[in-house]
Amino acid sequence: MLRDELSYFVQTAKIKLDGQPFSFDNHEYLEEPYEEIRKHRELILEKAAQMGLSTLELLNAYHGSKYGAYPHGILYLLPSKTDVTEFSKSKAQSIVDENPIISSWIGSSGPDSTNTANIKKIGNSLLYFRGMQSRIGLKTITVDMIVFDEIEEVEDWSLVALAEERMSHIGISDNAGEDIQKITRQSTVHRLSVPSIPGWGIDAYFAGNDEAGIRPSDQRYRMFKCLACNEWNCFEDEFPDCIVIVNDKDEKAIRVCKKCGREISLANPEVRRSAEWVPKEPLQRVRGYHFSQLFSRFVNPYKIINQFNKKHELTTLFNDKLGIPYVDAEARLEIKDLVALETSDPQHNAHPGPCGMGVDQPKDEGGKFHIVIGYRMEKQPCNIIRMTVRTKWQELGDLMKQFNVGRCVIDGQPDQAKAREFARAFPGKVFLCYYAKEQKGAPKWNEGDYIVSVDRTESINNSTRAVHEQKISTPRLDDDVKIFQRHCHNMARKRQVDKDTGSVRQIWVKTGPDHYRHAFNYLYLALPEIGEYVPPRKETDWMHNFKKERNWKTI
Ligand SMILES: [Zn+2]
Repeated sequence: MLRDELSYFVQTAKIKLDGQPFSFDNHEYLEEPYEEIRKHRELILEKAAQMGLSTLELLNAYHGSKYGAYPHGILYLLPSKTDVTEFSKSKAQSIVDENPIISSWIGSSGPDSTNTANIKKIGNSLLYFRGMQSRIGLKTITVDMIVFDEIEEVEDWSLVALAEERMSHIGISDNAGEDIQKITRQSTVHRLSVPSIPGWGIDAYFAGNDEAGIRPSDQRYRMFKCLACNEWNCFEDEFPDCIVIVNDKDEKAIRVCKKCGREISLANPEVRRSAEWVPKEPLQRVRGYHFSQLFSRFVNPYKIINQFNKKHELTTLFNDKLGIPYVDAEARLEIKDLVALETSDPQHNAHPGPCGMGVDQPKDEGGKFHIVIGYRMEKQPCNIIRMTVRTKWQELGDLMKQFNVGRCVIDGQPDQAKAREFARAFPGKVFLCYYAKEQKGAPKWNEGDYIVSVDRTESINNSTRAVHEQKISTPRLDDDVKIFQRHCHNMARKRQVDKDTGSVRQIWVKTGPDHYRHAFNYLYLALPEIGEYVPPRKETDWMHNFKKERNWKTI
């Protein structure tokens, strides 16, 4: 072991954390990550809350900067500016304050002070704490490592992509243009977070996401050996069967072996020390670890199983305590929910109406408009008869006429000017939709400006509920319906905590392309504003019967 190795340093330098001397005792699961943290270009930590992993990243940042592992610097990204302030002032600073050896490495603050709360100078390296959602001038910043901490809290996934895009420019400095490629190739990325939605956020990096083009990590899970029968157990895989209640009165439960059913006690040092990290995908290049409170000795397994049995806040249980991504049934549309809406009718090319139309604008000019058209009938609030794509504004006008559209809702962004022009061409029929964050209650229709504003979460909740209650029908399966179903599946609802106020709200995030989902949501907004479609009376049948009757009478 060498002095420039992190795990040697933390064990020999009398490091203290929250008043306690640093030790791997009872935290054996951290030993390998401390040893491996510098050996991989990409590291993914999918974790339960309170597992000591931000501390690992900070100690690595301080020690690595001091011993030349990151000569240019480190960029430590948190979701928002508030997170940055809180994190750098409390967590990052308290490690420094508690450990004189670390504080001795940190440059003194002079007039040109680089040691403001959000930048620390360690040796010749700079450690920057920044928010992912703020625009940061990275033009002249050169770093060797980026840490994305709690990326799950970022509302818009494209912001993470943006931060990574910035990273590809990180090598740029005023006079070293030719070093860009070299530095970019060598830079290290760490991502750590509590998960939320399967295949999204940290879980996309840990387990892979084909649609986003992200390859999975090697997915290391902690395996515990049963000392009675030698079977290896992964508690996350076996949950909830890995916990057995012994006594409700004393809130006592034990972890058990899946094979012999005997206790696997974390109080036994041999159990803790013989546990191993085992990759599920050993051939993957990216190193990934999965951390769960199931293997923390300090978490009472009774509390976990009791919460599970009572179905109390399951999302919190899975995400924060087990480190497992989880979405409950109301918070996402499954493909089977959408297949249940299919009728035997093909798509329509025209309709007498009145119809409603929802349009999702393309991101760039010349891109695809996604359009969903339907009508309502008594007791059937939304019958979708057409879903299609177009590329020109003019073609939207053609559809307005072919389907006798009484109300069209189109998103106000990104081409607001063209959308207004389109609305003016069909006065009183086309409304631009703006999603508002905190607007409770019914949508607000502004007839003067042809604008409708609606709470985003609430309106998507409403149309989601309508699908679950099967109040919607769609044409029979074809290519467009298939894409529609996929787009509808590609949104999921998650909790978001406002760090400033502490309030918790729900937000819908996209987990893949979701254009038809928004077009459908706009249609669902439009339909209550128009009259019901009344099918023509079946005159031919009636005439036929009438004639038959007359003939019979004349005979
Ligand atoms: Zn066993």
